[in-house]
Amino acid sequence: MGTFIHLLSADVYARYLRLKGEEVIAVTGSDEHGTPIEVEAIKKGVPPKQLTDAIHKQICDLLEAYNIRLDNYTRTESPVHIRYTQELYRKVYENGYVYTQNVSLPYCEKDQRFLPDRFVEGTCPHCGYEQARGDQCESCGRVLDPLELIRPRCVFCGAAPTVKSSTHWFFDLPKFRDKLLLLVQENKRLPENARNFSLKWLEEGLKPRSLTRDNKWGIPAPFPGAEGKTIYVWLEAVLGYVSASIEWAEKSGKPDAWKDFWFDKQTRNVHFIGKDNIPFHVIIFPSLLLATHEDYVLPWQVSSTEFILFNGQKFSKSKKVGVWIDEALKVAPAEYWRYVLIAIRPETRDANFTWRDFESHVNSELNDVLGNFVHRTLTFVNNYFDSKIPEPQELDSKDEALKNRIESSPSKVSQLFDQFQLRSALGEIIELARAGNQYLSEREPWHLVKTDRAKTATTLYFATQLVRSIGILISPFLPETAQHIRTQLNLTGEEGWWDAGTLALKAGHAIGKATPLFHKVSVPAKS
Ligand SMILES: [Zn+2]
Ligand SMILES: [Zn+2]
Repeated sequence: MGTFIHLLSADVYARYLRLKGEEVIAVTGSDEHGTPIEVEAIKKGVPPKQLTDAIHKQICDLLEAYNIRLDNYTRTESPVHIRYTQELYRKVYENGYVYTQNVSLPYCEKDQRFLPDRFVEGTCPHCGYEQARGDQCESCGRVLDPLELIRPRCVFCGAAPTVKSSTHWFFDLPKFRDKLLLLVQENKRLPENARNFSLKWLEEGLKPRSLTRDNKWGIPAPFPGAEGKTIYVWLEAVLGYVSASIEWAEKSGKPDAWKDFWFDKQTRNVHFIGKDNIPFHVIIFPSLLLATHEDYVLPWQVSSTEFILFNGQKFSKSKKVGVWIDEALKVAPAEYWRYVLIAIRPETRDANFTWRDFESHVNSELNDVLGNFVHRTLTFVNNYFDSKIPEPQELDSKDEALKNRIESSPSKVSQLFDQFQLRSALGEIIELARAGNQYLSEREPWHLVKTDRAKTATTLYFATQLVRSIGILISPFLPETAQHIRTQLNLTGEEGWWDAGTLALKAGHAIGKATPLFHKVSVPAKS
Protein backbone atom coordinates (compact mmCIF):
# COMPACT_ATOMS: atom_id res chain seq x y z
CA MET A 1 0.00 0.00 0.00
CA GLY A 2 2.96 2.29 0.71
CA THR A 3 4.36 2.15 -2.81
CA PHE A 4 0.97 1.88 -4.39
CA ILE A 5 -0.08 5.32 -3.21
CA HIS A 6 2.68 6.93 -5.30
CA LEU A 7 1.54 5.15 -8.47
CA LEU A 8 -2.00 6.22 -7.68
CA SER A 9 -0.93 9.83 -7.00
CA ALA A 10 0.90 9.95 -10.34
CA ASP A 11 -2.16 8.59 -12.12
CA VAL A 12 -4.47 11.11 -10.44
CA TYR A 13 -2.16 14.03 -11.17
CA ALA A 14 -1.61 12.98 -14.82
CA ARG A 15 -5.36 12.65 -15.35
CA TYR A 16 -5.83 16.13 -13.90
CA LEU A 17 -3.21 17.63 -16.23
CA ARG A 18 -4.76 15.89 -19.25
CA LEU A 19 -8.17 17.29 -18.36
CA LYS A 20 -6.57 20.72 -18.36
CA GLY A 21 -5.29 20.03 -21.86
CA GLU A 22 -1.61 19.65 -20.93
CA GLU A 23 0.69 17.31 -22.80
CA VAL A 24 1.64 14.62 -20.32
CA ILE A 25 3.44 11.33 -20.12
CA ALA A 26 3.29 9.31 -16.92
CA VAL A 27 5.97 6.64 -16.74
CA THR A 28 7.67 4.42 -14.21
CA GLY A 29 8.49 0.75 -13.76
CA SER A 30 9.52 -2.14 -11.59
CA ASP A 31 13.05 -1.95 -10.25
CA GLU A 32 14.15 -5.51 -10.55
CA HIS A 33 17.81 -5.64 -9.67
CA GLY A 34 19.45 -5.69 -6.26
CA THR A 35 20.48 -8.35 -3.81
CA PRO A 36 17.08 -9.24 -2.24
CA ILE A 37 15.88 -10.73 -5.54
CA GLU A 38 19.20 -12.44 -6.16
CA VAL A 39 19.20 -13.95 -2.66
CA GLU A 40 15.68 -15.28 -3.13
CA ALA A 41 16.49 -16.67 -6.57
CA ILE A 42 19.62 -18.45 -5.35
CA LYS A 43 17.73 -19.89 -2.38
CA LYS A 44 14.93 -21.13 -4.62
CA GLY A 45 17.35 -22.32 -7.29
CA VAL A 46 15.69 -20.35 -10.10
CA PRO A 47 17.00 -17.53 -12.33
CA PRO A 48 16.24 -14.06 -10.83
CA LYS A 49 14.47 -13.08 -14.05
CA GLN A 50 11.90 -15.81 -13.45
CA LEU A 51 10.98 -14.15 -10.14
CA THR A 52 10.90 -10.62 -11.50
CA ASP A 53 8.84 -11.69 -14.53
CA ALA A 54 6.18 -12.93 -12.14
CA ILE A 55 6.33 -9.82 -9.93
CA HIS A 56 6.19 -7.48 -12.91
CA LYS A 57 3.17 -9.26 -14.33
CA GLN A 58 1.44 -9.10 -10.97
CA ILE A 59 2.03 -5.33 -10.69
CA CYS A 60 0.77 -4.73 -14.24
CA ASP A 61 -2.42 -6.65 -13.40
CA LEU A 62 -2.91 -4.59 -10.25
CA LEU A 63 -2.43 -1.32 -12.11
CA GLU A 64 -5.11 -2.48 -14.51
CA ALA A 65 -7.45 -3.49 -11.69
CA TYR A 66 -7.05 -0.11 -9.98
CA ASN A 67 -7.45 1.85 -13.20
CA ILE A 68 -3.94 3.26 -12.98
CA ARG A 69 -3.23 4.17 -16.58
CA LEU A 70 0.40 5.07 -17.04
CA ASP A 71 1.76 5.73 -20.51
CA ASN A 72 4.48 3.21 -19.84
CA TYR A 73 4.97 0.94 -16.89
CA THR A 74 8.24 -0.77 -17.73
CA ARG A 75 10.97 -2.64 -15.90
CA THR A 76 14.68 -2.23 -15.34
CA GLU A 77 15.35 -5.52 -17.17
CA SER A 78 14.01 -3.88 -20.31
CA PRO A 79 16.68 -3.78 -23.07
CA VAL A 80 15.97 -0.07 -23.55
CA HIS A 81 16.77 0.62 -19.89
CA ILE A 82 19.93 -1.48 -19.98
CA ARG A 83 21.11 0.26 -23.16
CA TYR A 84 20.28 3.75 -21.83
CA THR A 85 21.99 3.11 -18.47
CA GLN A 86 25.17 1.91 -20.13
CA GLU A 87 25.22 4.83 -22.57
CA LEU A 88 24.67 7.32 -19.76
CA TYR A 89 27.44 5.84 -17.63
CA ARG A 90 29.86 5.85 -20.57
CA LYS A 91 29.29 9.60 -20.86
CA VAL A 92 29.56 10.15 -17.13
CA TYR A 93 32.83 8.20 -17.19
CA GLU A 94 34.21 10.15 -20.15
CA ASN A 95 33.28 13.39 -18.40
CA GLY A 96 35.53 12.41 -15.52
CA TYR A 97 33.01 11.69 -12.75
CA VAL A 98 33.87 8.02 -12.25
CA TYR A 99 37.01 6.68 -10.58
CA THR A 100 38.18 3.36 -9.13
CA GLN A 101 39.26 2.35 -5.66
CA ASN A 102 40.14 -0.92 -3.95
CA VAL A 103 37.69 -1.86 -1.24
CA SER A 104 37.71 -4.59 1.36
CA LEU A 105 34.56 -6.71 1.25
CA PRO A 106 33.29 -9.80 3.01
CA TYR A 107 33.94 -12.88 0.87
CA CYS A 108 32.53 -16.38 1.26
CA GLU A 109 35.21 -18.97 0.50
CA LYS A 110 32.66 -21.74 0.35
CA ASP A 111 30.37 -20.04 -2.17
CA GLN A 112 33.31 -18.27 -3.82
CA ARG A 113 31.58 -14.93 -3.98
CA PHE A 114 31.73 -11.47 -2.50
CA LEU A 115 28.98 -10.69 -0.04
CA PRO A 116 27.81 -7.11 -0.60
CA ASP A 117 24.66 -5.55 0.87
CA ARG A 118 22.13 -8.22 1.76
CA PHE A 119 24.35 -11.17 0.96
CA VAL A 120 25.67 -10.90 4.50
CA GLU A 121 23.87 -10.70 7.82
CA GLY A 122 25.06 -10.28 11.38
CA THR A 123 24.62 -8.34 14.59
CA CYS A 124 24.11 -4.58 14.32
CA PRO A 125 27.01 -2.73 15.98
CA HIS A 126 24.65 0.09 17.02
CA CYS A 127 21.63 -1.67 18.51
CA GLY A 128 22.58 -5.34 18.81
CA TYR A 129 19.83 -6.59 16.46
CA GLU A 130 21.01 -10.03 15.35
CA GLN A 131 19.36 -10.11 11.91
CA ALA A 132 20.95 -6.89 10.58
CA ARG A 133 21.76 -6.89 6.87
CA GLY A 134 25.00 -5.78 5.31
CA ASP A 135 23.57 -2.53 3.96
CA GLN A 136 21.15 -1.55 6.71
CA CYS A 137 19.84 -2.56 10.12
CA GLU A 138 16.07 -3.04 9.88
CA SER A 139 15.71 -2.55 13.61
CA CYS A 140 17.44 0.81 14.18
CA GLY A 141 17.36 1.93 10.54
CA ARG A 142 21.06 2.81 10.38
CA VAL A 143 22.91 2.39 7.10
CA LEU A 144 25.75 -0.08 7.56
CA ASP A 145 28.97 -1.05 5.90
CA PRO A 146 28.98 -4.86 5.66
CA LEU A 147 32.32 -5.00 7.49
CA GLU A 148 30.80 -3.29 10.55
CA LEU A 149 28.58 -6.30 11.30
CA ILE A 150 29.44 -8.27 14.42
CA ARG A 151 29.57 -12.07 13.86
CA PRO A 152 28.83 -11.75 10.12
CA ARG A 153 27.54 -14.77 8.19
CA CYS A 154 26.92 -15.61 4.56
CA VAL A 155 23.16 -15.66 3.87
CA PHE A 156 23.56 -18.70 1.61
CA CYS A 157 25.65 -21.09 3.67
CA GLY A 158 25.87 -19.43 7.08
CA ALA A 159 29.69 -19.52 7.11
CA ALA A 160 31.70 -16.62 8.51
CA PRO A 161 33.12 -14.63 5.60
CA THR A 162 36.74 -13.65 5.14
CA VAL A 163 37.75 -10.21 3.91
CA LYS A 164 39.02 -9.77 0.37
CA SER A 165 39.92 -6.77 -1.70
CA SER A 166 38.06 -5.90 -4.90
CA THR A 167 38.30 -2.97 -7.30
CA HIS A 168 35.17 -0.85 -7.53
CA TRP A 169 34.00 2.17 -9.44
CA PHE A 170 32.72 5.29 -7.67
CA PHE A 171 30.54 8.21 -8.76
CA ASP A 172 32.04 11.54 -7.77
CA LEU A 173 28.86 12.93 -6.22
CA PRO A 174 30.59 15.71 -4.20
CA LYS A 175 31.34 17.56 -7.47
CA PHE A 176 27.62 18.38 -7.73
CA ARG A 177 27.11 19.64 -4.23
CA ASP A 178 27.16 23.39 -4.93
CA LYS A 179 24.84 23.15 -7.92
CA LEU A 180 22.38 20.96 -6.03
CA LEU A 181 22.42 23.19 -2.99
CA LEU A 182 21.40 26.10 -5.17
CA LEU A 183 18.71 24.07 -6.92
CA VAL A 184 17.18 22.91 -3.65
CA GLN A 185 17.35 26.37 -2.09
CA GLU A 186 15.65 27.91 -5.11
CA ASN A 187 12.93 25.27 -5.43
CA LYS A 188 10.20 26.66 -3.20
CA ARG A 189 7.75 23.97 -4.24
CA LEU A 190 9.52 21.07 -2.56
CA PRO A 191 7.59 19.58 0.36
CA GLU A 192 9.13 20.31 3.72
CA ASN A 193 10.44 16.77 4.23
CA ALA A 194 12.28 16.74 0.88
CA ARG A 195 13.65 20.19 1.42
CA ASN A 196 14.87 19.70 4.99
CA PHE A 197 16.35 16.30 4.36
CA SER A 198 18.20 17.41 1.24
CA LEU A 199 19.52 20.62 2.73
CA LYS A 200 20.84 18.75 5.74
CA TRP A 201 22.53 16.20 3.48
CA LEU A 202 24.04 18.86 1.26
CA GLU A 203 25.21 20.99 4.15
CA GLU A 204 26.93 18.01 5.76
CA GLY A 205 28.75 17.42 2.47
CA LEU A 206 28.21 14.62 -0.02
CA LYS A 207 30.26 11.43 -0.19
CA PRO A 208 31.25 9.60 -3.38
CA ARG A 209 28.77 6.78 -4.11
CA SER A 210 29.90 3.29 -4.81
CA LEU A 211 28.69 2.47 -8.29
CA THR A 212 29.52 -1.18 -8.92
CA ARG A 213 28.93 -4.57 -7.36
CA ASP A 214 30.43 -8.02 -7.87
CA ASN A 215 26.89 -9.35 -8.45
CA LYS A 216 25.78 -11.13 -11.57
CA TRP A 217 22.18 -9.93 -11.43
CA GLY A 218 22.18 -6.37 -12.70
CA ILE A 219 23.30 -4.18 -15.58
CA PRO A 220 26.89 -4.89 -16.66
CA ALA A 221 29.11 -1.91 -15.79
CA PRO A 222 30.34 -0.33 -19.06
CA PHE A 223 33.70 0.93 -17.70
CA PRO A 224 37.07 -0.25 -19.05
CA GLY A 225 38.28 -3.09 -16.84
CA ALA A 226 34.92 -3.57 -15.12
CA GLU A 227 34.08 -6.90 -16.72
CA GLY A 228 32.03 -9.08 -14.37
CA LYS A 229 30.79 -6.09 -12.34
CA THR A 230 27.27 -4.70 -12.38
CA ILE A 231 25.90 -1.22 -11.64
CA TYR A 232 24.59 -0.84 -8.10
CA VAL A 233 20.79 -0.99 -8.27
CA TRP A 234 20.19 2.34 -6.53
CA LEU A 235 22.27 4.14 -9.12
CA GLU A 236 20.44 2.77 -12.13
CA ALA A 237 16.79 2.37 -11.09
CA VAL A 238 16.21 6.16 -11.06
CA LEU A 239 17.40 6.35 -14.67
CA GLY A 240 14.30 4.33 -15.49
CA TYR A 241 12.25 7.53 -15.73
CA VAL A 242 14.21 8.52 -18.82
CA SER A 243 14.47 5.03 -20.31
CA ALA A 244 10.74 4.47 -19.78
CA SER A 245 10.10 7.66 -21.75
CA ILE A 246 12.40 6.47 -24.55
CA GLU A 247 10.62 3.13 -24.61
CA TRP A 248 7.24 4.89 -24.69
CA ALA A 249 8.41 6.99 -27.66
CA GLU A 250 9.72 3.95 -29.53
CA LYS A 251 6.50 2.04 -28.92
CA SER A 252 4.38 4.92 -30.13
CA GLY A 253 6.34 5.14 -33.37
CA LYS A 254 7.81 8.60 -32.66
CA PRO A 255 11.28 7.60 -31.42
CA ASP A 256 12.36 11.19 -30.72
CA ALA A 257 9.21 12.27 -28.88
CA TRP A 258 10.78 11.54 -25.48
CA LYS A 259 13.19 14.43 -25.98
CA ASP A 260 10.35 16.95 -25.64
CA PHE A 261 9.88 15.73 -22.11
CA TRP A 262 13.55 15.70 -21.11
CA PHE A 263 15.18 18.60 -22.92
CA ASP A 264 12.47 21.20 -23.53
CA LYS A 265 12.84 23.78 -20.76
CA GLN A 266 9.04 24.20 -20.63
CA THR A 267 8.69 20.64 -19.37
CA ARG A 268 7.92 20.07 -15.74
CA ASN A 269 9.37 16.87 -14.41
CA VAL A 270 7.29 15.73 -11.43
CA HIS A 271 7.90 12.73 -9.16
CA PHE A 272 5.65 11.05 -6.60
CA ILE A 273 7.58 9.15 -3.96
CA GLY A 274 7.78 8.26 -0.28
CA LYS A 275 10.16 10.09 2.05
CA ASP A 276 12.57 7.13 2.09
CA ASN A 277 13.34 7.86 -1.56
CA ILE A 278 14.14 11.56 -1.20
CA PRO A 279 17.95 11.29 -1.59
CA PHE A 280 17.64 9.36 -4.85
CA HIS A 281 15.26 11.86 -6.44
CA VAL A 282 16.52 15.16 -5.09
CA ILE A 283 20.25 14.44 -5.04
CA ILE A 284 21.37 11.36 -6.98
CA PHE A 285 19.10 11.48 -10.04
CA PRO A 286 19.73 15.17 -10.84
CA SER A 287 23.48 14.66 -10.31
CA LEU A 288 23.56 11.80 -12.80
CA LEU A 289 21.68 13.91 -15.34
CA LEU A 290 24.04 16.84 -14.76
CA ALA A 291 27.05 14.54 -15.12
CA THR A 292 26.12 13.88 -18.77
CA HIS A 293 26.65 17.60 -19.59
CA GLU A 294 23.54 17.31 -21.74
CA ASP A 295 21.21 19.89 -20.28
CA TYR A 296 18.43 17.57 -19.16
CA VAL A 297 15.28 18.92 -17.54
CA LEU A 298 15.80 18.29 -13.80
CA PRO A 299 13.04 17.39 -11.33
CA TRP A 300 10.69 20.36 -10.97
CA GLN A 301 8.78 18.82 -8.13
CA VAL A 302 9.37 15.81 -5.92
CA SER A 303 6.08 15.23 -4.13
CA SER A 304 7.39 13.12 -1.26
CA THR A 305 4.86 11.87 1.24
CA GLU A 306 5.32 10.58 4.76
CA PHE A 307 4.51 6.97 5.63
CA ILE A 308 1.20 5.17 6.02
CA LEU A 309 1.10 3.08 9.16
CA PHE A 310 -1.29 0.23 9.82
CA ASN A 311 -2.95 0.44 13.23
CA GLY A 312 0.03 2.54 14.32
CA GLN A 313 2.66 0.04 13.12
CA LYS A 314 4.96 -0.04 10.12
CA PHE A 315 3.70 -2.24 7.28
CA SER A 316 5.62 -5.50 7.29
CA LYS A 317 4.97 -8.45 5.05
CA SER A 318 7.03 -10.78 7.23
CA LYS A 319 5.15 -9.74 10.38
CA LYS A 320 1.81 -9.76 8.51
CA VAL A 321 1.07 -6.16 9.47
CA GLY A 322 -0.90 -4.33 6.79
CA VAL A 323 -3.40 -4.60 3.97
CA TRP A 324 -2.07 -5.91 0.66
CA ILE A 325 -3.32 -4.16 -2.34
CA ASP A 326 -4.04 -7.46 -4.14
CA GLU A 327 -6.23 -8.63 -1.25
CA ALA A 328 -7.89 -5.25 -0.78
CA LEU A 329 -10.19 -5.77 -3.76
CA LYS A 330 -11.90 -8.58 -1.88
CA VAL A 331 -13.03 -6.03 0.70
CA ALA A 332 -14.16 -3.19 -1.55
CA PRO A 333 -14.06 -2.11 -5.23
CA ALA A 334 -11.00 -0.31 -6.60
CA GLU A 335 -12.74 3.07 -6.68
CA TYR A 336 -13.27 2.92 -2.90
CA TRP A 337 -9.57 2.25 -2.35
CA ARG A 338 -8.59 5.03 -4.71
CA TYR A 339 -10.80 7.32 -2.64
CA VAL A 340 -9.58 6.23 0.77
CA LEU A 341 -5.90 6.17 -0.15
CA ILE A 342 -5.99 9.75 -1.39
CA ALA A 343 -8.20 10.78 1.56
CA ILE A 344 -5.45 9.61 3.93
CA ARG A 345 -2.48 10.51 1.66
CA PRO A 346 0.22 11.39 4.21
CA GLU A 347 1.11 14.82 2.86
CA THR A 348 2.44 16.45 6.00
CA ARG A 349 2.74 13.71 8.61
CA ASP A 350 2.51 9.94 8.85
CA ALA A 351 -1.02 8.68 8.32
CA ASN A 352 -2.52 5.77 10.13
CA PHE A 353 -4.71 3.27 8.33
CA THR A 354 -7.38 1.59 10.44
CA TRP A 355 -10.34 -0.44 9.22
CA ARG A 356 -12.62 1.76 11.25
CA ASP A 357 -11.40 4.86 9.37
CA PHE A 358 -11.70 3.02 6.07
CA GLU A 359 -15.32 2.24 6.87
CA SER A 360 -16.01 5.80 7.88
CA HIS A 361 -14.39 7.33 4.76
CA VAL A 362 -16.43 5.06 2.51
CA ASN A 363 -19.72 5.12 4.37
CA SER A 364 -19.96 8.66 5.62
CA GLU A 365 -18.13 10.53 2.85
CA LEU A 366 -18.22 8.59 -0.38
CA ASN A 367 -21.64 7.04 0.15
CA ASP A 368 -23.51 9.48 2.38
CA VAL A 369 -22.17 12.75 0.99
CA LEU A 370 -21.13 12.25 -2.62
CA GLY A 371 -23.26 9.25 -3.57
CA ASN A 372 -26.31 10.51 -1.76
CA PHE A 373 -26.20 13.98 -3.27
CA VAL A 374 -25.92 12.67 -6.83
CA HIS A 375 -28.57 10.02 -6.33
CA ARG A 376 -31.09 12.28 -4.62
CA THR A 377 -30.74 15.01 -7.20
CA LEU A 378 -31.12 12.75 -10.20
CA THR A 379 -33.99 10.82 -8.62
CA PHE A 380 -35.91 14.09 -8.08
CA VAL A 381 -35.37 15.06 -11.71
CA ASN A 382 -36.52 11.58 -12.78
CA ASN A 383 -39.62 11.77 -10.63
CA TYR A 384 -40.72 15.42 -10.68
CA PHE A 385 -39.64 16.58 -14.11
CA ASP A 386 -39.94 13.46 -16.21
CA SER A 387 -36.13 13.15 -16.32
CA LYS A 388 -35.74 16.54 -18.04
CA ILE A 389 -33.54 19.33 -16.67
CA PRO A 390 -36.05 21.95 -15.52
CA GLU A 391 -35.98 25.58 -16.58
CA PRO A 392 -34.67 27.80 -13.74
CA GLN A 393 -36.93 30.57 -12.52
CA GLU A 394 -36.16 33.54 -10.30
CA LEU A 395 -32.94 33.17 -8.30
CA ASP A 396 -32.62 33.97 -4.61
CA SER A 397 -29.42 34.40 -2.63
CA LYS A 398 -29.04 30.66 -1.95
CA ASP A 399 -29.26 29.87 -5.67
CA GLU A 400 -26.77 32.63 -6.39
CA ALA A 401 -24.41 31.23 -3.74
CA LEU A 402 -24.56 27.74 -5.25
CA LYS A 403 -24.07 29.15 -8.73
CA ASN A 404 -20.95 31.00 -7.55
CA ARG A 405 -19.71 27.88 -5.87
CA ILE A 406 -20.05 25.93 -9.13
CA GLU A 407 -18.34 28.66 -11.14
CA SER A 408 -15.36 28.92 -8.80
CA SER A 409 -15.01 25.17 -8.21
CA PRO A 410 -12.41 24.28 -10.88
CA SER A 411 -10.04 27.07 -9.88
CA LYS A 412 -10.39 26.26 -6.20
CA VAL A 413 -9.62 22.56 -6.66
CA SER A 414 -6.93 23.43 -9.19
CA GLN A 415 -5.06 25.59 -6.69
CA LEU A 416 -4.80 22.62 -4.34
CA PHE A 417 -3.71 20.30 -7.13
CA ASP A 418 -1.05 22.77 -8.18
CA GLN A 419 0.34 22.71 -4.64
CA PHE A 420 0.33 18.89 -4.80
CA GLN A 421 -2.26 18.77 -2.04
CA LEU A 422 -4.17 15.91 -3.60
CA ARG A 423 -5.84 15.06 -0.33
CA SER A 424 -7.26 18.56 0.13
CA ALA A 425 -8.27 18.73 -3.54
CA LEU A 426 -10.35 15.60 -3.04
CA GLY A 427 -11.69 17.00 0.24
CA GLU A 428 -12.81 20.16 -1.55
CA ILE A 429 -14.87 18.08 -4.00
CA ILE A 430 -16.54 16.28 -1.11
CA GLU A 431 -17.29 19.71 0.38
CA LEU A 432 -19.02 20.68 -2.86
CA ALA A 433 -21.26 17.63 -2.57
CA ARG A 434 -21.87 18.50 1.08
CA ALA A 435 -22.92 22.00 0.03
CA GLY A 436 -25.24 20.40 -2.51
CA ASN A 437 -26.82 18.21 0.14
CA GLN A 438 -27.30 21.20 2.38
CA TYR A 439 -28.96 23.13 -0.42
CA LEU A 440 -31.38 20.25 -0.99
CA SER A 441 -32.07 19.85 2.72
CA GLU A 442 -32.92 23.54 3.04
CA ARG A 443 -35.15 23.52 -0.03
CA GLU A 444 -36.81 20.17 0.63
CA PRO A 445 -37.86 19.64 -2.99
CA TRP A 446 -39.93 16.64 -1.87
CA HIS A 447 -42.26 19.09 -0.06
CA LEU A 448 -41.67 22.09 -2.26
CA VAL A 449 -42.81 20.31 -5.40
CA LYS A 450 -46.35 20.24 -4.01
CA THR A 451 -46.52 23.97 -3.36
CA ASP A 452 -44.00 25.78 -5.54
CA ARG A 453 -43.07 24.06 -8.76
CA ALA A 454 -41.08 27.06 -10.05
CA LYS A 455 -38.76 27.10 -7.05
CA THR A 456 -38.38 23.32 -7.26
CA ALA A 457 -37.35 23.73 -10.88
CA THR A 458 -34.67 26.29 -9.98
CA THR A 459 -33.40 24.10 -7.15
CA LEU A 460 -33.05 21.01 -9.29
CA TYR A 461 -31.60 22.99 -12.16
CA PHE A 462 -28.70 24.13 -9.97
CA ALA A 463 -28.32 20.86 -8.11
CA THR A 464 -27.96 19.00 -11.42
CA GLN A 465 -25.38 21.50 -12.67
CA LEU A 466 -23.42 20.81 -9.50
CA VAL A 467 -23.68 17.06 -10.09
CA ARG A 468 -22.15 17.58 -13.52
CA SER A 469 -19.33 19.77 -12.15
CA ILE A 470 -18.52 17.22 -9.47
CA GLY A 471 -18.49 14.52 -12.15
CA ILE A 472 -15.71 16.39 -13.98
CA LEU A 473 -13.67 17.37 -10.94
CA ILE A 474 -13.79 13.89 -9.39
CA SER A 475 -12.68 12.14 -12.57
CA PRO A 476 -8.89 12.21 -11.89
CA PHE A 477 -9.58 10.50 -8.56
CA LEU A 478 -12.53 8.25 -9.43
CA PRO A 479 -12.63 7.72 -13.19
CA GLU A 480 -15.30 5.02 -13.08
CA THR A 481 -17.56 7.06 -10.85
CA ALA A 482 -17.11 10.03 -13.17
CA GLN A 483 -18.16 7.87 -16.10
CA HIS A 484 -21.12 6.60 -14.11
CA ILE A 485 -22.24 10.17 -13.45
CA ARG A 486 -21.84 11.08 -17.13
CA THR A 487 -23.94 8.11 -18.15
CA GLN A 488 -26.68 9.02 -15.70
CA LEU A 489 -26.63 12.61 -16.93
CA ASN A 490 -26.73 11.27 -20.48
CA LEU A 491 -23.69 13.32 -21.51
CA THR A 492 -21.66 12.71 -24.62
CA GLY A 493 -18.64 14.57 -25.96
CA GLU A 494 -15.43 15.66 -24.31
CA GLU A 495 -15.35 17.86 -21.25
CA GLY A 496 -12.27 19.57 -19.88
CA TRP A 497 -11.36 20.69 -16.39
CA TRP A 498 -12.58 24.27 -16.75
CA ASP A 499 -15.96 23.11 -18.06
CA ALA A 500 -16.72 22.18 -14.46
CA GLY A 501 -17.22 25.93 -13.82
CA THR A 502 -20.00 26.29 -16.36
CA LEU A 503 -23.76 25.66 -16.20
CA ALA A 504 -23.75 23.60 -19.35
CA LEU A 505 -26.79 21.38 -18.83
CA LYS A 506 -29.55 22.92 -20.89
CA ALA A 507 -33.13 23.02 -19.66
CA GLY A 508 -35.02 20.25 -21.40
CA HIS A 509 -31.98 17.93 -21.65
CA ALA A 510 -33.12 14.40 -20.85
CA ILE A 511 -31.07 12.53 -18.28
CA GLY A 512 -30.88 8.79 -17.68
CA LYS A 513 -32.15 6.85 -14.74
CA ALA A 514 -30.61 7.49 -11.34
CA THR A 515 -28.77 4.50 -9.88
CA PRO A 516 -26.73 4.53 -6.66
CA LEU A 517 -23.01 5.25 -7.15
CA PHE A 518 -21.79 3.47 -4.02
CA HIS A 519 -22.87 1.15 -1.26
CA LYS A 520 -21.82 0.97 2.36
CA VAL A 521 -19.09 -1.42 3.41
CA SER A 522 -18.43 -3.23 6.64
CA VAL A 523 -14.88 -3.98 7.65
CA PRO A 524 -13.45 -7.49 7.93
CA ALA A 525 -14.57 -9.10 11.16
CA LYS A 526 -11.07 -9.96 12.42
CA SER A 527 -10.16 -6.28 12.71
ZN1 LIG B 1 20.64 -1.60 14.51
ZN1 LIG C 1 28.52 -18.88 1.77
